[in-house]
Amino acid sequence: VRRPLVVGNWKMNGTRESRKTLLANILSGVSESDPAEVGICAPYVFIPEAAELLKKVPILLGAQNVANEDDGPFTGEISARMLREFGCDLVIVGHSERRLLYGESNELVAARYKKALDYGLTPILCVGETLKQRERSETLDIIDQQLDAVVDSAGVESLANAVIAYEPVWAIGTGRTATVAQVQEIHEYLRRKISGWEPGVSASVRILYGGSVKPENARTLFGLPDVDGGLIGEASLDAESFLSICHSV
Ligand code: 13P
Repeated sequence: VRRPLVVGNWKMNGTRESRKTLLANILSGVSESDPAEVGICAPYVFIPEAAELLKKVPILLGAQNVANEDDGPFTGEISARMLREFGCDLVIVGHSERRLLYGESNELVAARYKKALDYGLTPILCVGETLKQRERSETLDIIDQQLDAVVDSAGVESLANAVIAYEPVWAIGTGRTATVAQVQEIHEYLRRKISGWEPGVSASVRILYGGSVKPENARTLFGLPDVDGGLIGEASLDAESFLSICHSV
């Protein structure tokens, strides 16, 4: 049985005060007995304070990226050990904004994924195609390459300790959600592909959907057989909307 997971990706938004208020409002609406597990991926600098606020609260804390190395001359990077030390449970790797705006390759994402696992963080591996790629019918090829890179480097068993997020790039921040048929098709494809390698892992790995999830469409999306929750951008910046999505499971 897969417990659904809803994760807010705050991206690069807000101030110390506004994030504190947002988090306080979110945590007051989350309880251990909720059907869905809830997580927040905050900007690095907010993590220490968020960890403090989330002590004794059943909300997972995460970052939005992690270094592909341990320690050393890697200016601007944050290691998995640092994230662990400051209370993180989760980390997003391979978000399309990292891939497209900062040129992160499948190999680099796979190395980041591996470091997260080495230090006991749960990586949320993002996969997904651009609009151009979808129009050229390359969606499955792209997703194959993104997943294969990780499996080649860390092994298929690693997925037992990871989460996958399908985020079609054309649905991110555009208000344009993928249709239920499009979402279910890709989620089912991913699960079947993993099942071909390792049926046990396939049955247990959580596959989240991300891309313009809103209180209005969350229930329908989360009701799909191979959708185990969501990765929420814009709507996670408003406590009421985010909680409504968390409670749509
Ligand atoms: P939106 O919910 O703003 O479309 O963003 C989705 C996303 O990128 C989550 O990682």
